Amino acid sequence: MSDATTGARRPQPRDDLRELSGYHSPQVDVDVRLNTNESPYPPPPAFVEQWLAALRDVDWNRYPDRAASELRVALGGFLGQDPDRLLCGNGSNEMLQTLLLTYGGSGRRALMFEPTYALHAQIARGTGTEVVTGERRADYRIDPDEAVAAIRREQPSVVFLCSPNNPTGTVEPRETVERVAAAAAEAGAVLVVDEAYGEFSPWSALELVSEGRALAVVRTYSKVWSLAGVRLGFVVAPVWMIAELEKVLLPYNLSVPTQVAGTVALGFASEMEQRVATLVEERGRLFAALAQTDGIEVCPSGANFLMFRVHGDAHELWNRLLKHDVLVRDFSSWPRIEGCLRVTVGTPEENDTFLAALGEALPEVWQ
Ligand code: PMP
Repeated sequence: MSDATTGARRPQPRDDLRELSGYHSPQVDVDVRLNTNESPYPPPPAFVEQWLAALRDVDWNRYPDRAASELRVALGGFLGQDPDRLLCGNGSNEMLQTLLLTYGGSGRRALMFEPTYALHAQIARGTGTEVVTGERRADYRIDPDEAVAAIRREQPSVVFLCSPNNPTGTVEPRETVERVAAAAAEAGAVLVVDEAYGEFSPWSALELVSEGRALAVVRTYSKVWSLAGVRLGFVVAPVWMIAELEKVLLPYNLSVPTQVAGTVALGFASEMEQRVATLVEERGRLFAALAQTDGIEVCPSGANFLMFRVHGDAHELWNRLLKHDVLVRDFSSWPRIEGCLRVTVGTPEENDTFLAALGEALPEVWQ
């Protein structure tokens, strides 16, 4: 293709990127925004004060600490993990990309179990990694026998497990993660457990991280720490894997404000735990209300959101909720979860507004 005015040949992206369309999650300006699984609560004002105060003394003309040592030591202490097992980046998406740049790439495969977080496939493709998929059971859990068979068949370099899974909310039991980790090890693959919502769930794969396992657990400050605007995520993995990931990471990837925010936030852990407890309680209330609603089937969730199937035109329901100033996420045309919407757990008031809007809109789309 050439430029109409200059006649110059326009550079073309890599052939394997031609089919790629960007990541789309429409943002609409509404009163009640329950579509991107953020925390509905801001961080405590005292956190903002301490953060900004710490930034006044920074040598801005200097690059940040490349190793983010202070943050890693503080975070390691908080998690009960060796700081050398931690790597931090601009959101957990950057950590997923770093894992794929290191262990995926041309001629290699990443295995994921659909339906799951769309960015696993998107980032894999961006890094030239072939995407191969396994299926989930009807209840959206992974069947360990099928997962092991898929790993043996596909011989991937990277296996993704998202638990709690986005968008279904499904939590995988420890036995499944252990069996998948063992099969991944047999194939020489890294198992990546994406725990972006791990703090909302009853158990964590963090307890399985050890030097003898090729297991990486990815977490984020975007959800429970109420810091989506900061962009901070991290991976917990064996020291030898972190050393490989560090080779690929851009130098000085993490800005000073981001590093300081991550450290200062840890001083507000009890407030964070309180927010998580409130959201888990609200999740229970929303689940009960949806479960009692005729025309809706709601999935059990270990995250800060609930996916539900609509007996009727789900996309039209999404539209009508929008007219009530409530934005949820529309998955109605996604393969395997046709007819489904996903609602983030908000404040009690936001959840009430959502339930009231649903009560009005659902009978209009019922079939
Ligand atoms: N993993 C999952 C499963 C997610 O849902 C998200 C956010 N939607 C992320 C990773 C990325 O989070 P962030 O980059 O904000 O840390």
